[in-house]
Amino acid sequence: MSDFDKKEDEKTGTATSRNFIELIIDEDLKTGKYGGRVHTRFPPEPNGYLHIGHAKAICLNFGIAEQYGGLCNLRFDDTNPTKEETEYIESIKEDVRWLGFDWEDRLYFASDYFEQMYGYAADLIKKGKAYVCDLTAEETREYRGTLTEPGKDSPYRNRSIEENLDLFERMRAGEFPDGARVLKAKIDMANPNLNMRDPVMYRILHASHPRTGDEWCIYPMYDWAHGLEDSIERITHSICTLEFEVHRPLYDWFLEQLGVYRPQQIEFARLNMNYTVMSKRKLLELVKEGYVNGWDDPRMPTISGLRRRGYTPESIRNFSDRIGIAKADSVVDIALLEHCLREEQNLRAQRMMAVLHPLKVVIENYPEDKVEEMEAVNNPEDESMGTRTVPFSRELYIEREDFQEEPHKKFYRLAPGREVRLRYGYYIKCEEVIKDENGEVIELRCSYDPETRGGWSPDGRKVKATLHWVSAKHAVKAEVRLYDRLFNEENPLDVEEDENWKSNINPDSLKSLYPCYLEQNLAESKAGDRFQFERLGYFCVDPDSSNERLVFNRSVPLRDTWKKIQAKM
Ligand code: ATP
Ligand code: MG
Repeated sequence: MSDFDKKEDEKTGTATSRNFIELIIDEDLKTGKYGGRVHTRFPPEPNGYLHIGHAKAICLNFGIAEQYGGLCNLRFDDTNPTKEETEYIESIKEDVRWLGFDWEDRLYFASDYFEQMYGYAADLIKKGKAYVCDLTAEETREYRGTLTEPGKDSPYRNRSIEENLDLFERMRAGEFPDGARVLKAKIDMANPNLNMRDPVMYRILHASHPRTGDEWCIYPMYDWAHGLEDSIERITHSICTLEFEVHRPLYDWFLEQLGVYRPQQIEFARLNMNYTVMSKRKLLELVKEGYVNGWDDPRMPTISGLRRRGYTPESIRNFSDRIGIAKADSVVDIALLEHCLREEQNLRAQRMMAVLHPLKVVIENYPEDKVEEMEAVNNPEDESMGTRTVPFSRELYIEREDFQEEPHKKFYRLAPGREVRLRYGYYIKCEEVIKDENGEVIELRCSYDPETRGGWSPDGRKVKATLHWVSAKHAVKAEVRLYDRLFNEENPLDVEEDENWKSNINPDSLKSLYPCYLEQNLAESKAGDRFQFERLGYFCVDPDSSNERLVFNRSVPLRDTWKKIQAKM
């Protein structure tokens, strides 16, 4: 539910905008289905860094638990032995915590249940509900049939319980090579749902696991393991994305056959966003092939990338609320995510002045050594944030694009003979343009009106533009990184067969500017600090930043494309 909806509910005293998941839980609480408990979980596979889609799932699961006074587990679904797991596990924990959620003492690993799962599998064999199958992977595929044709029973389907138990034990003992045999559930090869056609439960894989080492050489398949994990942890509402809807009958079948505790699975539509890709496998490709500078590259849709870009946990949680919970897939505009950050930072971020593309201005009638401390407002939206002073002197920098030698019709900023306001400074007028030998403008000679201190004229004389500026001799040099969308196409994966989705990468997604000039007050900024640079956008200090070289990222420019889209609708 969005904050807006919540406020509406509070006002009217009704709860009209409960989403369908809340409605299901309300009903379960009413009927006492789980004895009044609400227990959810976030179950990532530690095979990459989390992205904004995972953030949605985190907010949903931890949010529901919070809302109902329940619990939410963090569970690593580490049924696949993968290599770099430790790095991923640490990053996932950091991201969940950063988003503002706490799993307390409920950190679990699916691999801790391997023994229990093995026992359950043996139980199924004993019930005549699972068998060891020697078909190759390819044969298994052929036997499965298609959506329109039923499958065929495997010739190994009727092995005796004793033989199955023996073979399964020997699979575990490491007697057979990878791929030689699998354990399958014995369900129904003609079931219209392909997932129910004797799915594989265990495969042989002589691979060492980061947590269980070489203890196992058979590993459970996701469909077998996932429902058991939820059951073992006594999850009440097992919330997952839509693609698992067709797997639900299988999860239920397993739990029913075993006669164990059964959670309620609820599916919702996964978050898709335009101009980016969201699968860990694809994101890994971007990292490995050097298209980006690591998982936390500020252009990545990863939580760590967004954090580095300057996103706050609040803005992401708010985004997650705003997009709501749906039953049908859709694509969310990335402009909404940006809007959520702007909306928050507009209220919170301190305004500062910085010049990204500097052009020198010399005020000829301003005394050489004079420095005035001008008072500047820290945030016009919030008086309590107070004021600060910025030094004004004879030599300043302004933004190169705030000057045109031959101004076109709609250009109201500085031009020869024209007067503009320097914010919190004075009115200045351009008297002379200095160029280098190539004809490029390198400096402006201006005059100022001493009567206009603070940027206001006592005679009521109007100017059409207000520029930001910094005093040259007080300015702090910095590198500023500007970002654009990582992909040129709304749906980067929508490519012709012979084309690669990576051909849609925007080659200009990162522009690094140096030197930029910042107001003196920014000299001591530390990684993670956030500001608004007047007229330029919201910025934050990058972890690459040091005393020798300050580095800022632009999180988002000021122009709010989401508001424009909304206005048109
Ligand atoms: P990916 O395909 O991006 O790697 P995944 O679903 O394989 O994602 P998991 O680690 O298995 O990643 O996901 C953990 C949880 O996050 C799951 O419950 C999954 O449903 C949820 N999740 C993953 N992607 C999204 C998404 N785009 N929107 C909402 N929830 C998601
Ligand atoms: Mg996955």
